[in-house]
Amino acid sequence: MAVPTHNHSSRPKPALLGMDFDALKEFVREAGFPAFRARQLHHWLYIRGATEFAEMHNLARDFRDWLAENCTIGHATVGEVKVSTDGSKKLIYRLADGKVVESVLIRERNWFTLCVSSQVGCAVDCKFCMTGFGGFQRQMTTAEIVSQVLLAQRVAGKDDSPRNLVFMGMGEPLLNLENLIPALRLLADPDAIGIAGRRITVSTSGILPGIEKLGEANTGVSLAISLNASNNEYRNRIMPINKRYPIENLLDACRAFPLKQRRRITFEYVMLGGENDTLDNARELAVLLRGMPCKINLIPWNPDSHLPFKRPPEDRVLRFQQYLLSQGFTASVRYSKGLDVDGACGQLAAHWREKEKATGK
Ligand code: SF4
Repeated sequence: MAVPTHNHSSRPKPALLGMDFDALKEFVREAGFPAFRARQLHHWLYIRGATEFAEMHNLARDFRDWLAENCTIGHATVGEVKVSTDGSKKLIYRLADGKVVESVLIRERNWFTLCVSSQVGCAVDCKFCMTGFGGFQRQMTTAEIVSQVLLAQRVAGKDDSPRNLVFMGMGEPLLNLENLIPALRLLADPDAIGIAGRRITVSTSGILPGIEKLGEANTGVSLAISLNASNNEYRNRIMPINKRYPIENLLDACRAFPLKQRRRITFEYVMLGGENDTLDNARELAVLLRGMPCKINLIPWNPDSHLPFKRPPEDRVLRFQQYLLSQGFTASVRYSKGLDVDGACGQLAAHWREKEKATGK
C-alpha cells in the first residue's frame, strides 16, 4: 500500500468529523489505504464518538500513524460541565481557536434533550438574548456542530444519551446553512449518529430564505419558530429581524415548509412580564396561527441581571395558556431548566469569558 510520506505541516490539518461516508472513502482512497478503512473510521467517528486516534484499536498501526500525522478528528474540548439541581447539565466547549460555545443537556421527565449551538455569538440581536447582546464572532464548522453532540453523548453516558436535539443554543442556525445541513445529515443518518429526524428541531428567529432552503434540503428535521410576539409592532421592538421578515411572510414560509405526516411546527413564545403576556396578546396569537399545524411553547422569561425584562406572574401565564387551549391549540408551558447554572441562552459562555478575563487565561 502506498503511504504518502509528505505531510502538509504548514497548512492546517483537515478535520475528519463532518465528512460523510463517501467523503471518508475518497479521503482514504487518496491516501492510498484500502476502502474498508473508511467504514472503520466512520464507525469510530460517529458510532463510538472516539476523541483520539489511539482509541481506534482495530485500525492498522500505519493507518493510525498516518491519520495522526495528517489530520485531526476535529473535536472541541469540554472545558466545564455544570450540573443543575434539576439534573440539567451545562457544557462549555473550547474550540480549536480558543472560542467558547455551550450546549445544555436538559432534564425532561425521564430523558434528556440536548440544546446545541450553531454559531459563535449571533448577529440577529434579539433584545431578550445574551448571545445577541455579545454580537457575532464566527460560524461554527460542521465538525464543531457534530462534536458538541458526540461529546455531550459521552458526558451523558449510555443510559442518559439525549433523546431529542434542539438547535436553540448560541447562534441563528439558518444563517449557517452551509455547515448546518451536512451536520443535520450526519446527525440523522441511521448509519452515522442516528438521531431520528423527527427528534431534531432547528429553531429560527425567522430567516425566510433559510426556512425555504432547509425545506428544500429535505433533511426530515422539525422546524421551530422563535415568535415571541403577537403583532409586528412588538416583534420589531424585541426582534429587529422582523422588520426584514415580518410575521405574515414568516407564517407563509411556515405554511409552505414541507412537513412529514402528522408533524407540526413549534412556535416558541417567550413570555416577558408586562410586555407580551396579556389576554389580548393571546387572542392575537390565536388569530395568527389559526389553521396552522402547530404547537405552542410558552416560556416564562428567565430573569437575567443584564437585561431589562421581568418574569410574568404565574396566573398570567396560565390564563394565556388556557385561552390558547380553549381555541383548540396545543399549548404547553415550558419552564427554563438549569436556572442555577445560568440556563438562559448564552449566559454561561458570557460568564466563562468574564472569568477568563479575570484570571488572565
Ligand atoms: S435568540 Fe437566537 S437568534 Fe436571537 S440573538 Fe439569541 S442566539 Fe441569536
